[in-house]
Amino acid sequence: MAEMKKFTKVLVANRGEIAIRIFRACTELGIRTVAIYSEQDNVALHRFKADEAYLIGEGKGPIEAYLDIENIIEVAKRHDVDAIHPGYGFLAENEQFAARCEEEGIVFIGPKSEHIRMFGDKVIARKMAIEANIPVIPGTPEPISTLEEALRFVKENGYPIIIKAASGGGGRGMRIVRKQAELQDSLDRARSEAKSAFGNAAVYLEKYLENPKHIEVQILADRHGHAIHLFERDCSIQRRHQKVVEVAPSLALTDRQREEICDAALRLSKSCQYLNAGTVEFLVAPDGTFYFIEVNPRIQVEHTITEMVTGIDIVQSQIRIAEGYALEDDEIGIPSQASIQTRGFAIQSRVTTEDPEKNFLPDTGRLLAYRSASGFGVRLDAGIGAPGAVITPHYDSLLVKVSTQALTFERAASKMLRTLKEFRIRGVKTNIPFLENVMQHPDFLSGNYDTSFIDTKPELFE
Ligand code: ADP
Repeated sequence: MAEMKKFTKVLVANRGEIAIRIFRACTELGIRTVAIYSEQDNVALHRFKADEAYLIGEGKGPIEAYLDIENIIEVAKRHDVDAIHPGYGFLAENEQFAARCEEEGIVFIGPKSEHIRMFGDKVIARKMAIEANIPVIPGTPEPISTLEEALRFVKENGYPIIIKAASGGGGRGMRIVRKQAELQDSLDRARSEAKSAFGNAAVYLEKYLENPKHIEVQILADRHGHAIHLFERDCSIQRRHQKVVEVAPSLALTDRQREEICDAALRLSKSCQYLNAGTVEFLVAPDGTFYFIEVNPRIQVEHTITEMVTGIDIVQSQIRIAEGYALEDDEIGIPSQASIQTRGFAIQSRVTTEDPEKNFLPDTGRLLAYRSASGFGVRLDAGIGAPGAVITPHYDSLLVKVSTQALTFERAASKMLRTLKEFRIRGVKTNIPFLENVMQHPDFLSGNYDTSFIDTKPELFE
């Protein structure tokens, strides 16, 4: 029996909204919180939302500071931190960071470093899925580097294909190829981009599916061999392969499909004795066939909507699992899969400081006005709180995550529209007008959408 030890102090190796989200979870559990911040984040909100805050990465760049493993470990040790939550991005999927925490006797709130390693490489992840008897998109079993290898794949599978970086993430490191003339050039570019963005030139090929839906399943697994799923999210509303609006549960699945896809995700999780929270991602073709694409071994941006429809606090569950509790223990309170039900629908919109009229170019500057929204069924996760805050070009452009929940999808969408309209933000441009258009689009409201939704609707940009 693993030993259970409640944490007294948790450090969050992150910034912005997700750091604040995790502090809130800790505080509710009676755990003291520690923030770290870069020089550039000297007055960032997350710093003031923790019980203690320490500067890291002195003299380093704004991103590098949050990647400074040894400095973060040193701060954690100096201040008697029991555990570190990495959030998403930065060090969340850094195997070495998880391993260093393990070495120093600091609990890494996440999966084991070996899970990060295997799911950090999409080629290995595909092999794991195949072994667990889960359908994958036709693809090369190994990374490829030559035109000959690519041509061999095309001969069997035809165009279009997608070149993907084995270590890619965040919608980056992908190239669609529709004809032979583009193949060599795309391959060269994909490899060099993969090398510079992810430090690994390895790329592999997949058949490019036209008009799929992106469906992902939330998993929680404890140290005692129990794993459950929290149903699915539909993340098909994407721009450039990056999620913009997410919905839980999906409007597009039959009960049977839902069961099959959730079962497949659980099977994969069990086959590798996965630990803590993770997401198994799939694409669903127009004919209803589903295919595994990847696993995200961390908390995700869109976890909020699953929390809203299931009532389960995923971040608190992560903490309790890391402390050694079983899912069925009162501390987590999930006695069985059957005990989990969804209620109504939840939608999340990612409000960014991107200007839809300028091709979503990130905007920066001082917020002259910031009035947010509220009301029944509304949840806000923001990294800024008030006018005067400065949006710098150093970090991603996520300003606030707006989530709404209601008993029907239609009402969740009208609540989202009302909430978005209630915001008053001046000083920086945001994508709110664009999101308002999405919420009113008939194809969105009917659930009749796939990953091509945004790219095929110029009216959304008006
Ligand atoms: P990342 O790790 O960068 O998020 P994913 O593998 O999760 O990359 O893919 C992100 C998105 O890219 C998917 O949701 C989908 O829209 C698109 N995509 C990825 N692979 C394919 C494919 N084989 N066919 C069609 N679209 C794909």
